[in-house]
Amino acid sequence: MTLVDKILELKKKKNAIILAHYYVNEDIQKIADFVGDSFYLSKIALNTDARIIVFAGVKFMGESAKLLNYDKKVLLVNNEALCPMAEMASINKIKQLRKEYDDLKVVCYINSTLELKKESDVCVTSSNALKIISSLNSKNIYFIPDQNLGRYVKENIKDKNIILNDGYCPIHNRLSIDNLLKLKAKYPKATVLAHPECQKEILVNSDVVGSTAYLIEAVKTIKNDEFIVLTEEGILYELKKRYPNYRFYEPDYRMLCGDMKKNTLVELYDTLLEEKNEVIINSLDRIKALKPLEEMLKYAK
Ligand code: SF4
Repeated sequence: MTLVDKILELKKKKNAIILAHYYVNEDIQKIADFVGDSFYLSKIALNTDARIIVFAGVKFMGESAKLLNYDKKVLLVNNEALCPMAEMASINKIKQLRKEYDDLKVVCYINSTLELKKESDVCVTSSNALKIISSLNSKNIYFIPDQNLGRYVKENIKDKNIILNDGYCPIHNRLSIDNLLKLKAKYPKATVLAHPECQKEILVNSDVVGSTAYLIEAVKTIKNDEFIVLTEEGILYELKKRYPNYRFYEPDYRMLCGDMKKNTLVELYDTLLEEKNEVIINSLDRIKALKPLEEMLKYAK
């Protein structure tokens, strides 16, 4: 029996489902019940009947799944897979800004720790940030933790005072304009797809900007068969699966998230077998951190 067969058997026996982010290793994406971005997976987590949810991603994703499914057992494939950006904001700064602006709304990218969610008014993802922030009835918005997504939002919503924080995703932020210009020179006919966690100069030189799910869908609507892909390389598995005859080019600098790659089949098997790496959240924290997530789901309908 192969390791994959053992995982599938165990999954059935334990009434578990496997949720995987587009950035994890492709051998996990192949056997996951659902693969998607943070927003999609949080909605799946909300509607499942399974007893156990096994999350292949990073810690904040497992926390979101637990917040939305408090009575279910949520296990992280690897509880050392963390997102460095998720904690790049200061609670003191939030408190200080709340004193300065009466109407302040703290908008928290879903890629954030439980502690930051507890201090926020509404969560957003890269798919719904523009829609949700436009609908808020406050002028002053503090966007945490990602400055690049925050700047993208600020440039697209002119009638609000969007205050930026200095957090960033090391994987997307490190991509330089030189990397992109070299690629464009090499593949002049290719359409450039970029994630909004990239720096501004990358985004203004790209053709399509959006979340992983948005970029994957966008390929279907574009009359081209060549694409430069500027996000974590795990997305290539889904792109090549859906569009086998198209060509996808990546920068020389490998966009690889070491934390996402900590999710392996061996870890997945052990986690499921021992039901370890359970996400535990106390009920008080749950009440506070669930509020912005529920707000997001309400606005995003
Ligand atoms: S790719 Fe960036 S934002 Fe996503 S988990 Fe890795 S470090 Fe965090």
